[in-house]
Amino acid sequence: MYNDILSYLEKNSVTLIAVSKTKPVSAIQSLFDLGQRDFGENKVQEMVEKQEQLPNDIQWHLIGHLQKNKVKHIAPFVAMIHAVDSMELLETINKQAAKNNRQIPVLLQFHIAEEDSKFGLSYEESKQILDTLQRDPLPNVLISGVMGMATFTDLESQIRKEFKQLKNYFDNIKNQYFAKNDTFRHISMGMSGDYIIAVEEGATMVRIGSAIFGVRG
Ligand SMILES: *Cc1c(COP(=O)(O)O)cnc(C)c1O
Repeated sequence: MYNDILSYLEKNSVTLIAVSKTKPVSAIQSLFDLGQRDFGENKVQEMVEKQEQLPNDIQWHLIGHLQKNKVKHIAPFVAMIHAVDSMELLETINKQAAKNNRQIPVLLQFHIAEEDSKFGLSYEESKQILDTLQRDPLPNVLISGVMGMATFTDLESQIRKEFKQLKNYFDNIKNQYFAKNDTFRHISMGMSGDYIIAVEEGATMVRIGSAIFGVRG
């Protein structure tokens, strides 16, 4: 499964984030030995424990909701934080990144699904944040793109519509706020069940767990 997915994604120049949550270190090491370097975890504690046991050149992506008080644990090493949805969280990431003398790449999470969720920004909320950042930049965070999760449904048209929406947000924000640089360039969308639709709609990163590692127990 891994090789088929990888070759499809490589053909489309899309980065695979292998979502290893709940899976043992040995499973990550096996994929690492095949050349995989980007791994995704949704819990801070689990990511830190795995990071300590695995090779240093793994790129660790925090893909789940992140609490402010936990940022300090991943700030020294995290490659990208995908689910940023408040100014307060950005400020905390900035502070912890500064303490570690680095810049941390982050994605703004949008609420695109029909399902109720506490997480993810509306387009208006994202513009408020971006306006604030234009006045008062946070030098140690690198706003690198957008992230979203489609509704959990079999209805392809629904999923496609939501991914189109996220791509649309990305294009508008890029034009309005990041026209002069290419740091804002990622669209993280698509999971095991819908990554092909996501790639067709412009994803640059997909987050795939169960289709690679098997269903989680
Ligand atoms: C678990 C998870 C994934 C991967 O889900 P699969 O269906 O196993 O591919 C992707 N994104 C987020 C935010 C997740 O929590």
